[in-house]
Amino acid sequence: MSARVAIGIDLGGTNLKVALVDSAGTIVARAARRLADGQPSGEIIDTMVSLSRQLMLEAHLDKADVVGVGVGSPGPLSSRRGMIIKAANLAGWENVAVRDLLSEILGKPVVLDNDGNAAAFGEFWAGANRDGHDLVLLTLGTGVGGGIVLGGNILHGHFENAGEIGHSIVEPRGRACTCGKLGCLEQYASASAVVRRALGGVKAGKASALSGLVDRGDEVTAQTIATLAGDSDAWCEQVWDETCFYLAVACVNIQHAFNPARVLLGGGLACAGEQLIDGVRNHFSAMSWTLHDDFPEIQLASLGYDAGVIGAAGLAWQALGAGGD
Ligand SMILES: [Zn+2]
Repeated sequence: MSARVAIGIDLGGTNLKVALVDSAGTIVARAARRLADGQPSGEIIDTMVSLSRQLMLEAHLDKADVVGVGVGSPGPLSSRRGMIIKAANLAGWENVAVRDLLSEILGKPVVLDNDGNAAAFGEFWAGANRDGHDLVLLTLGTGVGGGIVLGGNILHGHFENAGEIGHSIVEPRGRACTCGKLGCLEQYASASAVVRRALGGVKAGKASALSGLVDRGDEVTAQTIATLAGDSDAWCEQVWDETCFYLAVACVNIQHAFNPARVLLGGGLACAGEQLIDGVRNHFSAMSWTLHDDFPEIQLASLGYDAGVIGAAGLAWQALGAGGD
């Protein structure tokens, strides 16, 4: 097997992850650094370069063994222009030409894409379901991110902002979203939103075992809500069921807009596993039509927190038109 690798870089709000990934989508070496608040973009780019070089040394690889570099980053950004326009949670990132800067220093072609898109491409390219079928990924974490892979390519859209399914409206007069609209999916189905809704109800007087946990100062996560729902805590059951319902609404809309073979659910909320998948599937079956049997498989994503670096590297392999030569 070839020793050639692509460098995958996942730039998060608080962490920078770098990995060397072979043409089969396997991580050969990896490193991560915590980012300081307000760290200047130049310093972060220098860290991307030094971590990449360090990994190459550790893996006994030369520059000639590296086919290219893929970077996944929060946006908004322009993949076409290789530029981060403004990165949420990263102070001072405005109009940074990451692609050209990195390419100049490393002497390799660089591809830049949105972090959700990179993760979706990772699942498509190297996940458990790598059969080339169209997929949509929803990452249910602090917010709801994701991406759409159709015909083997990420769908970017004319304005390069496709795949923002977290801001699709599932309840037109619903909860206020940070984006300024009402009723976005993100306000119902992110891991943070589930905790917020459950605790909000307890504060407003809903009877739940959650109140005991809150009184003791215990940490409450989405998994806590899922566990209590599984233990027949009525309020947590209600919150959990609503969460699955709104995700099913999104899946029906995804079915009709993109008609993918599968919708994958990942991120913190997906730690609940089959409890989440079964809940979403049940609501989906009750809501979806009977005119055609064009139903996407709703499944768990398989790459976890590695999806970003693997997908970013996969994009570099794809840009070569190869996937391994
Ligand atoms: Zn929104």
